[in-house]
Amino acid sequence: MLVVMKFGGTSVGSVRALTQVVNIVRKARNEGHDVVVVVSAMSGVTNLLLDAAHRAEAGDETSAHQARQQIEQKHAEATLHFLGNTPQRDSVMATIRPLLDEFESLCHGIHVLGELTPRALDVIGGLGERMSVPQVAAILSNAGVTAQGVEATELIVTDRRHGSAVPIIEDTAQKTQAGLRPLLAQGVVPVVTGFIGATKEGITTTLGRGGSDYSATIIGRALKADEVWIWTDVNGVMTTDPRVVPEAHPIGRLSYAEISELSFFGAKVLHSQAIRPARRVGMPVRILNTFEPDHPGTLITAESPVNGKTVKAIAAIKGMSLVTVAGPGMIGIPGVAGRTFTAVARTHTNVLMISQASSEQSICFVVPTADVTRVIDALEQELIREIERRDLDRVKAEDNTVVLAVVGSGMKGMPGVSGRLFGALGKEKINVIAIAQGSSEYNISIVIAQGDADSAVKAIHKEFELEKP
Ligand code: ADP
Ligand code: ASP
Ligand code: MG
Repeated sequence: MLVVMKFGGTSVGSVRALTQVVNIVRKARNEGHDVVVVVSAMSGVTNLLLDAAHRAEAGDETSAHQARQQIEQKHAEATLHFLGNTPQRDSVMATIRPLLDEFESLCHGIHVLGELTPRALDVIGGLGERMSVPQVAAILSNAGVTAQGVEATELIVTDRRHGSAVPIIEDTAQKTQAGLRPLLAQGVVPVVTGFIGATKEGITTTLGRGGSDYSATIIGRALKADEVWIWTDVNGVMTTDPRVVPEAHPIGRLSYAEISELSFFGAKVLHSQAIRPARRVGMPVRILNTFEPDHPGTLITAESPVNGKTVKAIAAIKGMSLVTVAGPGMIGIPGVAGRTFTAVARTHTNVLMISQASSEQSICFVVPTADVTRVIDALEQELIREIERRDLDRVKAEDNTVVLAVVGSGMKGMPGVSGRLFGALGKEKINVIAIAQGSSEYNISIVIAQGDADSAVKAIHKEFELEKP
C-alpha cells in the first residue's frame, strides 16, 4: 500500500520525536509499504520566523538575528545527536545555514523598507519546512531508510493567494507524479516540505497555518495513495481540545463531514481544508500519535458508525467578531442580504456563520476579528444610501466572541439535542448571542462571549457525557 505520512512540528521537534519518526517509517517500509513523508518545521520555528518578520517591519533590528541563532541551535543539536560530527551532518548544516542567511537578509530588507508583503511573509514562513526536510531525510538515510528531500514548490501548484493558497488540482497531480513516482519506484522515501507550494510562475506560497496537513492530503490525492496518516502529539481527534477539557478522549471513527465541521470551527488537530482532497476521492485519513504509535487513533472515512452518542465533539474558534446589519427599513429593501455578502466577499473574508431571524429585521454573521474593519468599511460603502436615509443603522460589530460548534452525525433527527445544549449553557448562566444550525444537522453553532468559551465547552462536554468512552 502507498501511504503518505505527515509528521507535525512536535513530531520532528526533538531528538525523542525524531527517534520515533525513524521507527515509524522503518516499520512501514519493513511491512512492504511505499511511503511518502511530509514534514513540518521543527516546533516553534515557524512562529520564530514569522514573529521576527513582523518585528522587522515594526522597526526591530535584532530579533531576526536572535531567532536565527535559536533555530540554528535546534538543528545543530538534532543533527549532532543523529549524525555525529560527520560529513553528513556538515552537509545538512550547509543546506540549513544559507536558508538562515536568506532569512536574516530578508528581515533586513523588511526593516529598511518598513514594509512586509504577503509574498515575503510566505517565503519567510516556509523556511522552517525547508530546513526540516534535509534534516529528516539525512536522519532516515543514516538509519538505513533511504530517503531524499523534495521541495513541495516543485510539486504543489497553487493560486496566488499568499497566506492561504489553494492548490490547482491537475497541475499538482501531474507534477507530483512526475516528481515522486520515480523515487518510489527506486525504493526511496521522498521527504517533502509541508506547508508550502508555488504558483505557476514559481513564486512560493503557503497553505495557511497548520498547512502541512493539507500538503499531505493534496499529495495523497495526487498520487492516488491508499491512505494518509497524520502523525501528531495526541491519540487522534478528541472529543474537544484536551488543553481545555482534560477529560477529553480520542474518537475512534469520524466521517469526512464530521471532521470538516470540527476543523473548520477550529479543532487545531487538522487544518481546516485538509480533509477536502481526501473526501473528493474517498481516501481514508488516520490521525495518529507519534509518541504512542500503537494506539489506533482516529480513522476518517465517508461513513462513521454511530457510536451511540448524539454529540461526538465540540470545537471552539476564538478571535471572532459578530457583525450585524439591521435597521427599520430592512424588510423593504430588496436584495440586502445579497448585497451584504457580495460586499463581504470582495474583502476575501471567511464568513464562519450566518444567522437571520425570520422577521428579517437583521442579518448577523461572524468573521475573524482580524478582518472586521475591512468588512465594516466595505459594508458601509455598499449600503451608504440606505444608511444615510436611515433605512439601515450603521453596521455594528461585537468583538471578543467565539463560535462553538457542536458536532455529530447522531444529532440528525434526534429531538431534544438543542434543548439539552441550551439548558446546559443556561445552568452556567452563559449568554448565547447567536445560533445557527446547518441543514446537514451535523453541527449546531453558537456565538458566545470569549470569556465564556472554556466554561461553555466544559458544560456541553459534561451534559453529553463525552468524558465517557
Ligand atoms: P502538529 O504540529 O502535529 O500539526 P498541532 O499542534 O497542529 O500538531 O495539532 C495538535 C494539537 O491540537 C493537540 O496537541 C491539541 O492540543 C490540539 N487540539 C485542539 N482540538 C483538538 C481535538 N479536538 N482533538 C485533538 N487535538 C486537539
Ligand atoms: N509549520 C507550519 C505552521 O506552523 C505548518 C504546519 O506546522 O503544519 O503553521
Ligand atoms: Mg498542525
